[in-house]
Amino acid sequence: MKLTELFKDDKLSLSFEVFPPKTDTAFESVKLATEEIAKLRPSFMSVTYGAGGGTSKYTLDIAKNIKANYGVPTLAHLTCVSSTRETVRERIADMKAAGIENVMALRGDIPAGLENADRSHWDYKHAVELVRELRESGADFCIGGACYPEIHPESICQKEDIKYLKEKVDAGCEFLTTQMFFDNNLLYNFLYKIREAGITVPIIPGIMPITNGNQVDRAIKLSGSFMPQRFKSLVDKFGTTPAAMKQAGIAYATDQIIDLFANGITNVHVYSMNKPDVAEAIQRNLSDILG
Ligand code: FAD
Repeated sequence: MKLTELFKDDKLSLSFEVFPPKTDTAFESVKLATEEIAKLRPSFMSVTYGAGGGTSKYTLDIAKNIKANYGVPTLAHLTCVSSTRETVRERIADMKAAGIENVMALRGDIPAGLENADRSHWDYKHAVELVRELRESGADFCIGGACYPEIHPESICQKEDIKYLKEKVDAGCEFLTTQMFFDNNLLYNFLYKIREAGITVPIIPGIMPITNGNQVDRAIKLSGSFMPQRFKSLVDKFGTTPAAMKQAGIAYATDQIIDLFANGITNVHVYSMNKPDVAEAIQRNLSDILG
C-alpha cells in the first residue's frame, strides 16, 4: 500500500520506526523486536538505512518480513551522500525487486571528517538528487523525505531550508516526516511557514520518546532539538532512575501526541527504536483515542 493512500484517511494513527541490525549476529533479535512492534498493527513501519550503506541489505530484509508476514505497510529508507551513482542504482533495483512501494529518500549525514571536504565531485550532494533518481528509475515508488521544524543544522536560516524543501517536494517527494521535536509549538510554526511557502504534501510529525537519561545528550546532539524547561526538569528529576525515566518519557511523548491529534494531525510517527515495550505503552495510553 502506498502511504499517500493511508494519509488520505482521517483516522488517527501511529506509525513506528525501527532500525536494522549492524551485524549478522544481531539480525534475529532485531527481527524479533520489529515483529513485536508489527503485531501492534501500526499504520506503517519505517526501516532506517545506515549512512555508510552497511545495513542496506537488512533494511530490505526487515521491511519485506514486516510486510509479508504481518501485513503492515513499510517505508524503506535510502541515503545517497556517501554512495556512488552505481551503488544507489543497484539499491533502487533491489528495492524494486523486493516489491518495496514506499521509499524515504535521504541525503544521509556527511561522513565524519568530510564535513569541510570539497563535495563538487560527489555523485550526490542533496536528497533532492535521490528523489529525482528514484523518479527516473521507472519504478512507481511513493517517495517521502525528511524535514526539520527547527531547521536542518547545516542551514543558514529557515527561509533557505524551506526553499530547498520545496525543491525536494517539487522533484517528487509526496510526504515529509519531521525530525524529532519536544515542543509542539515549533511544529505548528513550521507548518504555518511551509504551507505559506506552497508546500502542501502531508507532514508526519516524528516523536521520540526519551526513556533513558543517557539518550538525552545523543538525541539532542544529533537533532539539535530545543529542550523545553518542562522536559529538562523531567530529565533532571528522573534521568538517573531508569524505570521512572522510562515512565516519564513515555508520558511526555504521549502528551505531545495527544496535543498533535487535538490540533489536526492524523498520523504521528514514533521513533520507537526497536523497543516493542515502549511502542506498546504509547499505543496503550492512546487506546481510546486511536479507537
Ligand atoms: P537534504 O534534504 O539534502 O538537506 C540537507 C541540507 O542541505 C539542509 O540544510 C538543506 O537545506 C540543504 N539543501 C538541500 N537541498 C539543497 C540544494 N539543492 N542546495 C543547497 N542546499 C541544499 N540518516 C540516515 O543515515 N539513515 C536514515 O535512515 C535516516 N532517516 C531519517 C529519517 C528522518 C525522518 C529524518 C528527519 C532524518 C533521517 N536521517 C537518516 C538523518 C538525515 O540523513 C540527516 O538529517 C541529513 O543530515 C540530512 O538529510 P536530508 O535528506 O534531510 O538532506
